[in-house]
This record gives sequence, structure tokens and C-alpha cells, in this order.
Amino acid sequence: MKYKEIQEMYQDIRWTYFPKWDKGCEWKLELAEDLNGSQGFCDTQKKTIYTLYTNNLVIIHEICHAVTKQGHNKRWTTRMELAAKYAEKDGDSEIAAEIRDQLEAYAMSPKITAKMVYQEIQDIAYMSSSDISYDDTIEFVRRNYGMSERDFLKKYKKTRQAYDEGIENKF
Ligand SMILES: [Zn+2]
Repeated sequence: MKYKEIQEMYQDIRWTYFPKWDKGCEWKLELAEDLNGSQGFCDTQKKTIYTLYTNNLVIIHEICHAVTKQGHNKRWTTRMELAAKYAEKDGDSEIAAEIRDQLEAYAMSPKITAKMVYQEIQDIAYMSSSDISYDDTIEFVRRNYGMSERDFLKKYKKTRQAYDEGIENKF
């Protein structure tokens, strides 16, 4: 898709699903080639939505983060639900169903706790036959959770400690 078509698609999504958001058009949409395992990313500081594909669901999902300034919590869920209603109003029942399917998937996936994350890091470090590096361990675990390295390390501060404990327990 050409740049112009992508921007038209973005404008279309804004009009249909977020008619009251970002009236001053400060937010941009950019295609990215790699987002560290994620399909989309919402950069609130740069006011930019990055996406790997020109896919309505991915873009709507990310704009909901931009609007609510939050992760996959109640406010975000409510805004996604509203987008599904807009889709229905617009006669696009397919997108409405896609949004609701995704909300259901998020509701069913177990809550990730910090304890689970550290345990997983520790286990990998402990069980690896040859010594796996700290960086490789983090890379593996954060990809499993679909998080960028930056977000992952920002959220989980004791990853180094968990890794060290796993290595120590080997001996
Ligand atoms: Zn998200």
C-alpha cells in the first residue's frame, strides 16, 4: 500500500471509530517493519501509532491505547467495545465481531503477574543445559508475552535478579 492510501485508511478509521478524538490531528500513523514481536505499538510521547499491517483491528486496538492512555484494562476494554458499536452502526459487522473476539481472548487469558514472569526467567536460566545469556533469556520471555524489550524491562525491574538466582541454583 502506498503512503497516501495508508493515510486515507487512517483518516477513515478515525472518522468512523474515534470521531471525538484528537481533533487537532496531532497523532500520526506509521508503518513499521519490526516492532519486537508486536503487531502494533502506541507511542504516547511521539503521538504515533506504529503498525506492521494495514489492518483495521490492529489500528483500532492501538488507537484505543492512545485514547485511554492505558494498557489492556477496563477503560481500554470499554473503548474497544464502543468501537465495536461504531462498527455496527457503520454496517461493518465483520470488524465488530473481530473486536469482540479479541476482547474475549484477552478476558480469558490468565492475568500475568510479576511473580510468574520472574519464575519463568529463573526456570529458563536454571534448566538451560549450556549457560544461556541474560539477554537471550529476556528476549525469549518477553516475546512470549508479546512485549517490546523497552516495555518489558520497564515493567519488570527484577529480571536480572531472577536470572542470577536461576543460574546460582544450578550449582
Ligand atoms: Zn494492546
